[in-house]
Amino acid sequence: MKFRSTRNRASPASLSEAICAGQAADGGLFMPETFPEDAVQGAEGARDLAAFATAFLTPFFAGDVLEEALASICSEAFDFPLPEICLADDLSVLELFHGPTGAFKDFGARFLMACLDRLGDPAAPFTVLAATSGDTGGAVGCAAEGRSGLRAVILYPDGRVSPYQAHQLSCWGKPVTTLKVNADFDSCQKLVKSAFGDPGLTRRHRLTSANSINIARLLPQAAYLAFTSVRHQARTGSTPSLIIPSGNLGHGVAALIARACGAPISTIVLATNANATLHDWARSGRYMPRPSVVTIANAMDVGTPSNFERLEAGHPDSSGLIVVRVDDDAIRNRIRADHARLGYTWCPHSACGAEAYARLRQERRGQNWLIAATAHPYKFADIVEPVTGEAINPPATLSAVLDRPMQAEDCPADLAALTAYLDS
Ligand SMILES: *Cc1c(COP(=O)(O)O)cnc(C)c1O
Repeated sequence: MKFRSTRNRASPASLSEAICAGQAADGGLFMPETFPEDAVQGAEGARDLAAFATAFLTPFFAGDVLEEALASICSEAFDFPLPEICLADDLSVLELFHGPTGAFKDFGARFLMACLDRLGDPAAPFTVLAATSGDTGGAVGCAAEGRSGLRAVILYPDGRVSPYQAHQLSCWGKPVTTLKVNADFDSCQKLVKSAFGDPGLTRRHRLTSANSINIARLLPQAAYLAFTSVRHQARTGSTPSLIIPSGNLGHGVAALIARACGAPISTIVLATNANATLHDWARSGRYMPRPSVVTIANAMDVGTPSNFERLEAGHPDSSGLIVVRVDDDAIRNRIRADHARLGYTWCPHSACGAEAYARLRQERRGQNWLIAATAHPYKFADIVEPVTGEAINPPATLSAVLDRPMQAEDCPADLAALTAYLDS
């Protein structure tokens, strides 16, 4: 299988080239050349998620240097449960937050780190640079811990993440280091971009990015969405429709890939927060990126979805996508209502999905819905607890983070300081 840029379909890359580069040389994003329509068929009957993912992803790894390692990569990345909780006759929740850092980012981060570790050389490891304001940094740090083919440097905006998040970003052992940057998130991201813009620095440290433009984050997401849709169909006899809380659109594109590969998925709904770019595009057909607005579902505060280019490329087919936009008041009301009515507690991101379901009166008739619950509500307890009036018990994995010592170094928001740090 080859991977081609969304901009220029000439000069395809191998899978591992696409993983190491992150982005194509022409500025586009890598996509698989084809979507094998029988990938799901080949995976049916697998005994568990890791085995299913191995079979499902085999065509994408065919001919690559990572081909032989696929099964072990999948058993590392898919080593936690993925329960489906039934809330009503036509509604289930797909809980994607049972990984070690409590968000679905664990799947993609573990898969990507497992790939890079095997492609890297302990004598000249990759340096994964991750600017983060939310769930990615913790997931990357956790997934990078103990590896030898890479090191990870996490940058976060000091004083602009919750105390729990700060802990989760700063508690990982070698080869992970955390820099708290005295600036806002946009400046952190700009700093990382300017590092990638320095060819000498990039070469010296084999810099690579962990954000969701990397195809190795989308493929495992497509695998678990295919797995769960097959499981749902086997259990209920009906083809599920998916609701995906969306920001940078990695998860949404993964759902399209799963469907294109034969997964039994009917309608796909993208639920966003107040950031209106996708909603306006779905209505008007015009894509107008803009600065993000701050919401209580902050992992989706995106005004310029970085995977939009993949959606727009029309390959796989994205027709019929529905976008529902949910503002902060509606998020709070949905958390309150479903806590009272169903006894279920959403995180603010997943609550956008639940609200989208509640609004889809016409389309939803006769369909079975699966809402992707993207984070454990405990990660956003400061928002959720005042709304429900009830304390959230942390799962053991999330409270274990608080027992680890924090270690983060201060870093000014300039490239000279970051360069000095990397070279030291
Ligand atoms: C990252 C994230 C999202 C958005 O996912 P995208 O792939 O960027 O669309 C939604 N919810 C949570 C909790 C997240 O961390």
